[in-house]
Formats: sequence, structure tokens, C-alpha cells
Amino acid sequence: MEFQNKRILVTGAGQGIGRAIVERLCTQYEEVQVIALSKTLSNLELLKHKYPQIQIVQVDLQDWESTRREVSKLGPVDILINNAGVAILQPFLDIDENSFNSVFDINVKAVINISQVVAKCMIQHNIQGAAIVNVSSVASKAALTHHTVYCASKAALDSVTRSMALELGPHNIRVNSVQPTVVMTQMGQMAWSDPSKSGPVLSKIPLGRFSKPEEVVDVILYLAGPKSSMVHGVHIPVDGGFLI
Ligand code: NAP
Repeated sequence: MEFQNKRILVTGAGQGIGRAIVERLCTQYEEVQVIALSKTLSNLELLKHKYPQIQIVQVDLQDWESTRREVSKLGPVDILINNAGVAILQPFLDIDENSFNSVFDINVKAVINISQVVAKCMIQHNIQGAAIVNVSSVASKAALTHHTVYCASKAALDSVTRSMALELGPHNIRVNSVQPTVVMTQMGQMAWSDPSKSGPVLSKIPLGRFSKPEEVVDVILYLAGPKSSMVHGVHIPVDGGFLI
């Protein structure tokens, strides 16, 4: 019942962890209103076909103005899950400006953009139990080969999460983040399918395995819901102990 009558906006809902969040909310919670935002319309349509009760929003988060316009149309939401993200892997010596801009546009700027619109509306409507969960990564804390820009974007996101918590806390909006290890979504497969790359990371995980999407969803929904009512401004690793 904890999300009953709540409006929950999930970004990057078309696949991977975002899709798993939507599926969990639609299958295990009653009377929850899910708004699934993503870039690729066909992914959203597949989701809508399976769960007709959801609302879908197609927008490219790299476009600041159209993102603002589309999110403004949604009206008040109770919970925002900033999950959308991209990784472009390049050796440090080959990083180019376009890749840097794309990754920061989506992983950092879009979070500020959407959260601003949503938080203003939460304040205006005096939403009770308001929460924002940002999906960061262990990459915010640990250097990973060929992940310089991605790591920097997630470190920036952690910083944004703390600043949001500081300024939005007085408005009764809780803000937290999760830091997953590798999850074998499309992004995970792109980066970690080669055992010569994944092996060294796996060897540093005391639990000896990568995370399932559902295990990340568990922690996201804990931070989104009333059971974490005094948890604010934290980053919870979902990493099998990698960061220790
Ligand atoms: P994924 O399978 O690649 O899915 C990413 C989602 O983000 C997709 O639904 C995609 O939209 C959406 N997205 C990307 N660019 C977008 C844009 N410009 N506008 C709107 N939506 C956009 O990745 P994932 O593994 O589920 O990742 C989800 C989050 O977890 C990300 O923030 C990622 O950094 C983080 N994370 C992932 C891992 C991992 O190993 N997989 C580990 C730690 C943290 P479409 O499907 O509509 O194209």
C-alpha cells in the first residue's frame, strides 16, 4: 500500500533498470500512477502495451527546453526517479568534447532540469512524502578503465544529490541516490561483456557477482517510500561490497 495513489515519474523507463522499476510498480503495488519517460518511443509503446495503466512520455533528455516543456505538462508528482543515463567508453587519451557533453547533458544536467520542474511543483502543491531518487553508480567513487567521463558524471551527480538534499529538505522533499555495481542491462553488456574487463571488477566484489536489476529496484523503492522517511542526502551502494 505504500505507493497507493502516488504519482511516480521514472526516467529512462524504456529498458534496463528503469523498465524494471516500472514493472515492479505495476505488478506489486495497487493504485499507483506510473509515468514512464524515455527517449525511444517503441520501447515506451511496448511497456504501455503490457501495462496500459501507465502514462508514457517520449522526450530526449539532452534537449533542455523540450524536456522542461514535457515535464511541466505532467502536473504534480509525488516521487521522481532520475534513472536515465548513458555511458560512452573511451580511453582517457581519446576523450572528445561531444562525448563529454552528451554524457554530462543526460547524466547531470537533465537531472537538475527535471528535478527543478518537479520540485517546484511539489512545493506549490505541498506534496506529503515527496521523494527524489537519483541513480548514480559505484563509478562515482571508483576509477574504472575507459570510464573517465562516466565516472566524473556520476561523481557530479552525487554532489548534485547532496545539494538538492540541502536545499529541498526544508520543503519536505527527500533526496537520495543509489550507487549500483554492474547490472547486465544493455549498458552493462556494452561495458562489461568481455571477461577480461569484467573479471578484475568482479574479483573486487566480496559477494562474487554482479547485481540483478531487481536488487537495485529494491533499494530505489526503499528510498522512494515511507520506510526511509528519515534517510536524506545519502548514496547507498548496491554493489555486493565492491566499494569496501
Ligand atoms: P540502459 O539499459 O542503457 O537504459 C538506459 C535508459 O535511459 C533507457 O531507457 C534509455 O532510453 C534512457 N535514456 C538514455 N538516454 C536518454 C535520453 N537522452 N533521453 C531520455 N532517455 C534516455 O541502462 P541501465 O543499465 O538500465 O542504466 C540505468 C541507470 O543505472 C543509469 O543512470 C546508469 O548510469 C545506472 N547504472 C547502470 C549500471 C549498469 O551496469 N547497467 C551500473 C551502475 C549504474 P530508451 O530506452 O528509450 O532509448
